Amino acid sequence: MAAELVCFEPSCRARYPVTDIIYNCPRCGGLLEVDFPPPSLPASSLRELWRCRRLSDAPLDRSGVWRFRELLPFDDYSHAVTLLEGNTPLLPAPRAARWAGLERLAFKHQGFNPTGSFKDNGMSCGVAQALRLGMRRVACVSTGNTSASMAAYAAAAGLQALVFVPHGQIAFGKLAQALEYGARTFQVEANFDQILALVRVLAERLGIYLLNSINPFRIEGQKTIVIELLEQRGWRPPDWIVLPGGNLGNTAAFGKALRELAGLGLIDRMPRLAVIQAEGAAPFYELVRRGGGRLQPVAKPETLATAIRIGDPVSWPKALEAIRATDGVVEKVAEAEIADAKAVIGQCGIGCEPASAATLAGIRRLVDAGLIRPGEDVVAVLTGHLLKDPDYIYRYHCRKLATPSGGAIEVSYANQPLVVPCDADRIAGLIAG
Ligand SMILES: *Cc1c(COP(=O)(O)O)cnc(C)c1O
Ligand SMILES: [Zn+2]
Repeated sequence: MAAELVCFEPSCRARYPVTDIIYNCPRCGGLLEVDFPPPSLPASSLRELWRCRRLSDAPLDRSGVWRFRELLPFDDYSHAVTLLEGNTPLLPAPRAARWAGLERLAFKHQGFNPTGSFKDNGMSCGVAQALRLGMRRVACVSTGNTSASMAAYAAAAGLQALVFVPHGQIAFGKLAQALEYGARTFQVEANFDQILALVRVLAERLGIYLLNSINPFRIEGQKTIVIELLEQRGWRPPDWIVLPGGNLGNTAAFGKALRELAGLGLIDRMPRLAVIQAEGAAPFYELVRRGGGRLQPVAKPETLATAIRIGDPVSWPKALEAIRATDGVVEKVAEAEIADAKAVIGQCGIGCEPASAATLAGIRRLVDAGLIRPGEDVVAVLTGHLLKDPDYIYRYHCRKLATPSGGAIEVSYANQPLVVPCDADRIAGLIAG
């Protein structure tokens, strides 16, 4: 198979070998996409092959990414790195459905990944590409989950990981992971977008492979979230797939996956994508509301959902294409809506991190607005694990959640722990009351 990098700009479409270490088109600066000939097997054989691999004990067959390798741009799997990512559950959530005004809703929970977020699906491929290129060091700038994931996959592959995070702005669980997996970690006193520019310079100068969400091989791995979701549904597309939008790499990946699945006849219609952003970091929402053009970055993105606190999302052109191709929509939600939606997901016994809960908050808005009808079949992607951000949870339930600028957030489902004396009568009274 001859995979190539192709410029995403319609007016350019320049092609480059997959072995070139480039992240943008050298000719026009556009985003790059990996292009490769479609598998020669018919849809029914692909379905059968992927199903049979679930019975196999071979590591690559057991991976929820590499099991679908016919749709990944590698022809030799000697560089594949797996921690058995993917294989995440599709969980029905009737209580969350009712809260949002739907008859039914299921969560595709990417928090069940090895490092607790969907970044593992992409990183598995990104690190495989680093090995194919013979790189020894990998780096990323991250709001947290990318660094946790890259640190783990780099460690598994024997590569040195360099992690750059905005100082004081990432959830503690994620920083802890990067440290534990052995990444050299730099807490930079700047915001995400500024650090990204810095790391691009460093990568160039020091010959480090960049594994940010701009990396097209990560996008390839993230396609498998949608492939697996559709397989779990017997290849019946839902009416809607809802996901949070930060850097928009996942939106880009979902768009590419759906395009490829439709092209191969694995699905017979397109689900609509709904991308949800936090109010204080919603440049993509604004772009789509204006009907396109160029994305206007948000200079000071603000949200407690740190995984989507991105003012200048790199993958917006691909994400815009994904919205167009799927007749999709983009919505934005307030901090209090995210916080309450998260608590409702918790009450389902499921739980997720704040950015993930933007999906449920967004669904509720879209149902209210009449865009999603109550009887429609909706799948929301929960992007990260509940325990990524325990500090947020504790503050929510103690009614101490506040915006970064200090504004109090009114919450509806606080479950505050009680401090009590060691006294059976008093406690029995409290329980009865
Ligand atoms: C990275 C991340 C996002 C945002 O995804 P993008 O691809 O950057 O849009 C959302 N939620 C979680 C938990 C993440 O880790
Ligand atoms: Zn180009």
